[in-house]
Amino acid sequence: MKTVLITGSTSGIGLGIAREFAKTREYNIIFNGLELNGADIAEGIGKEFGIQVYFDKANMLQPQDLREMVAAGILKFGKIDVLINNAGIQHVSSIEDFPDDKWNAIIAINLTSAFYLSKAVWPGMKNRKFGRIINIASAHGLVASEFKSAYVASKHGIVGFTKTLGLEGAPFNITCNAICPGYVKTPLVEKQIADQAKAHHMSEDDVVNKVMLLKQAVKEFVPVETLGQLALLLASEHSGTITGAAIPVDGGWNAQ
Ligand code: NAD
Repeated sequence: MKTVLITGSTSGIGLGIAREFAKTREYNIIFNGLELNGADIAEGIGKEFGIQVYFDKANMLQPQDLREMVAAGILKFGKIDVLINNAGIQHVSSIEDFPDDKWNAIIAINLTSAFYLSKAVWPGMKNRKFGRIINIASAHGLVASEFKSAYVASKHGIVGFTKTLGLEGAPFNITCNAICPGYVKTPLVEKQIADQAKAHHMSEDDVVNKVMLLKQAVKEFVPVETLGQLALLLASEHSGTITGAAIPVDGGWNAQ
């Protein structure tokens, strides 16, 4: 059995990716997230698929929590083979009104947590000559949209971080790749739809069709299953030559 640690896996994309890993029955899963029922969610998936799970409520803002989560995961399962840095937050505001604390939290959660976690899993991966680090960036890791300065900066940052670890990991069969999704209908995006509808006096349908999906050639939200299947491929033994890549799954947004 391999072990995968997925941050922010008690909601949205992280949970969807965890389900795809669980379906294979080839992974122990370390769940993480701030949802109060996180332990129950993890246990539910463990029972549904007959796999071992562990839930850790490490806060991405606390480096010590992150080191302790990795240590606890290794104690429980012996090793961490795959790290998926997925936890993330968003805040939409013009630069002049952008709250300082939101900027700092977005950079810390979306970017800096991946640094602490990658650093913590690295020695084990290096010793075993196998490791897979997958960063859930965003289409906003490759292009910008207005009013998302911190988010776009954090996601461009993680794409750069991904490239660097791809190079550093090459001698040890550690790969590092970023998945760059377009819009996925999760609680994070549902909140944005509601906020934008209010701010622009539009219906929620108009926000989806005239604002969000405007830049995607495929006018559909990206299914979490697609992201899970791609993550499984990147996690596999066969993906050793895919590294340092930022892979768009964005309905053609970045093709334009
Ligand atoms: P979500 O809000 O459904 O889930 C985010 C998860 O991160 C939750 O489990 C939450 O508890 C966790 N989290 C947030 N802050 C945390 C903290 N301080 N410590 C620990 N956990 C924390 O959001 P989502 O849409 O599933 O987003 C997941 C990732 O995918 C994010 O990095 C996001 O930027 C990225 N992404 C989302 C979309 C989209 O359209 N939904 C598109 C591209 C990229």
